[in-house]
Order: sequence, then structure tokens, then C-alpha cells
Amino acid sequence: METIKLNQNFLNIPESYLFSEVAARVAKFKSEHPEAEVISLGIGDVTRPIAPAIVEAMHRAVDEMGSAETFHGYGPEQGYPFLREAIAEHDYRNRGIDINADDIFISDGAKSDLGNIGDIFSSACRVAVTDPVYPVYVDTNAMAGRAGKPVDGKWDRIEYLPATEANGFIPPLPSRQPDLIYLCYPNNPTGTVLTRAQLKEWVDFAIKNHCVIFFDSAYEAYIHTTDVPHSIYEIEDAEKVAIEFRSFSKRAGFTGLRCGYTVVPAALQLRDSRGEKVQLRKLWLRRQTTKFNGASYIIQRGAEAIYSSDGLRQTGEQVDYYMHNAERLLQAVRSAGLEAVGGVDAPYVWVRCPQGVNSWEFFDLLLGELHLVSTPGSGFGPAGEGYVRLTAFNTREATEEAARRIESAKF
Ligand SMILES: *Cc1c(COP(=O)(O)O)cnc(C)c1O
Repeated sequence: METIKLNQNFLNIPESYLFSEVAARVAKFKSEHPEAEVISLGIGDVTRPIAPAIVEAMHRAVDEMGSAETFHGYGPEQGYPFLREAIAEHDYRNRGIDINADDIFISDGAKSDLGNIGDIFSSACRVAVTDPVYPVYVDTNAMAGRAGKPVDGKWDRIEYLPATEANGFIPPLPSRQPDLIYLCYPNNPTGTVLTRAQLKEWVDFAIKNHCVIFFDSAYEAYIHTTDVPHSIYEIEDAEKVAIEFRSFSKRAGFTGLRCGYTVVPAALQLRDSRGEKVQLRKLWLRRQTTKFNGASYIIQRGAEAIYSSDGLRQTGEQVDYYMHNAERLLQAVRSAGLEAVGGVDAPYVWVRCPQGVNSWEFFDLLLGELHLVSTPGSGFGPAGEGYVRLTAFNTREATEEAARRIESAKF
């Protein structure tokens, strides 16, 4: 057979089997128990439809596309100024944060940007992640050759910072001199948050150790607690060390429409190996203008409508809807005698398995006994073992029924 030189990093990555294994076990259960009413609290996708203000804005944009005078072809790679201005005003300046529209890059979602950001860093960079973690951070670094070799469920060049019951789900600062640190708050999968003082420790660490923090705040809209920062740039000097990733997916139901943005502040300047100061924003702009042709005009008009007064109210009601579900789930698991965190500032409840039961065993138990689909915590990293994640993204009725089943169970 002819051979071809492939990217060996891809060949080293273990098969990602978390959601496919969940799907396979659920399919098997349903075929054996066709009468069972299975409720999914598993996958992190939303269920509420797109808010009317957004739908109307996209209809108008579609009509513009159908007429020669208002047609839009290729747009600016960085995103249309109308959307970047709306973001800068509502998500930053209104919160007293000095972020400029020029620092904002519109994309087709946070996942792409989180994966692509590695393009502007060397494959020699050392990476630290909290554990359990959104798998995209680890796998994209493995693809880029930064992760080393997989050993016992971990990559040997990545530093894992465990968030466990013992440390109150506040991971320790790195000890292995990383260059790049991934933080996700509110956290997926644990649903936990960092206070302003706790986040400040990370920013201070990054300044002192010349690291870049990738701050994923996809769940920012779910924050209710007052002392929890919505943006890392609320912390003094964070604009010198942090790139922030945001998404309209969980905030406004854009999981299918696809739109998000990344903030690379002008102040984020590091010295390269020759001692020259480099502005990361310039590199990211170069990367985007070369490899990305922008998010769709129609979708960006839809995203802009999130910031209209109707849009803010309607999407706010959707977030409240899910958070009511989260509150109900948290109450149910606790009244069933289980320990849990999250569910207050995030649409996820992180549930400790009963004594002596591992993540997959508890997954099977919840499916077999209560006909509920969860996500095994071990799929998010070694420190996720012994937990399952429940999502608040199902409908009110299905979540209420799931909560009743959990309350009636004995663990
Ligand atoms: C859902 C999610 C995202 C958003 O991804 P999109 O590509 O914008 O849909 C990013 N980070 C985390 C942790 C998520 O759970």
C-alpha cells in the first residue's frame, strides 16, 4: 500500500468515546425497554427556540441579501463593526471594563476559536488545564503536538490541576511553569465559579510567570452571584495576560446558528524569544484574515439583536428558564441524599456518585433505574471520576419529571 506522511499527533489521540458511548448505552437500553420514558440530562445542548427579536432581525437580513442595493458579500474577517460595537458597549463598557471594538473578533463559535488560538503559539509551549475539563482544550493541544504522550488517562506534557471536593473545587495554581493556562468559569462540567479574589490569584500568577490565560466564559450569562466576575478583564491588569472567549450558544440558543467572539486586548503584549515585544492581537488578526472569512452577515445581525431591549429581555428569560431547572435539579439530588455542586451560576449540576460507585456505574444506575441520561464525569478528565454531570437544558416539564424520579430514589 502507498504510504503518506500524516500528522502523527492525530494518530496518538485516543478515540473520543464519551458521547458516542453514552449514545450507544442509551440506544441499547431503549431497544430493550421500548416502553421506558427516557429523559436526557446529558448532552449540553439547549432546547428553547431562538428569541423573536433575533428571528425578526435575521428575517430582515435575509431580505437585504435578496436585493442588489442591500446585498452583502464577504464581510470583514474580524466581524461587522455593528456587532463588535454592541459587544464592546454591553458586555464590557457597561460593566466598567475598558475593552474596545478593535479588540473583539467575531467567529462562528467559541469552540473554533478555542481550538484555533493555538496557531499563534509554539508547539513547545507548556499547557495547564483544570481537571475535569472541557475536552476541546486538551485534544486541540494534543493535535498541535503540545501534549506529549498519553499515560494512564493523562498527557504527560500537560499539567492537570484537579478541582475536587478536597479543595472545594478550586484548582491549585500550576507548579510546572506553564506558558498557556485554560480557565473556564462558570465551569463546564462542574458548574462551579471563581470569586473575584480567586480569579485575581490566577491573573497575578500569569503576570509573574509570563503566562497567557485562555478564559472561556461561555456561561457568563448564567452568573447570578454578585461577587463572581463576568469577565476576566474585571481583574486589574488581566488585559495584559488574558484572551477571553465568549459564545452566543448558551446565552441565546445559538448552538445551531453558530456565533461567538474572542477578545484579544491591545495591551496583551509579550516578548518573543529574541526579546522583541509582540502584540498578540496582531498575530490573531493575521491568523483570522488568512484562514477565516467571517461569520455570516445574517447570523451577525441576529447576534446584534441580542443586545436590543427586546433581545436582552427575551434571552434573559431563557437563561432564567434554564436556571430554574438547575435549581430544581440541585434541590432534587440533595434531597435524595447525594452531594452536588454547581447549578447556581451555571446550567450544570455536578453530582457525586454514591459511595463505592464510579461514574459509568452511576450512569448505568440512573439510566436503568430512573431512565435518566447523565454524562459520566470521568469523560472530562481523571478528577471527574466518581461524578456525573446533569444539565439544566431540557424543558421545564421533562426536568420536573426527572427531579421527581431522583427524589423518589434511594441511593
Ligand atoms: C458550549 C461551550 C462552548 C461554546 O461553543 P460554541 O462553539 O460557541 O457553540 C465553549 N466552551 C464551553 C466550555 C462550552 O461548554
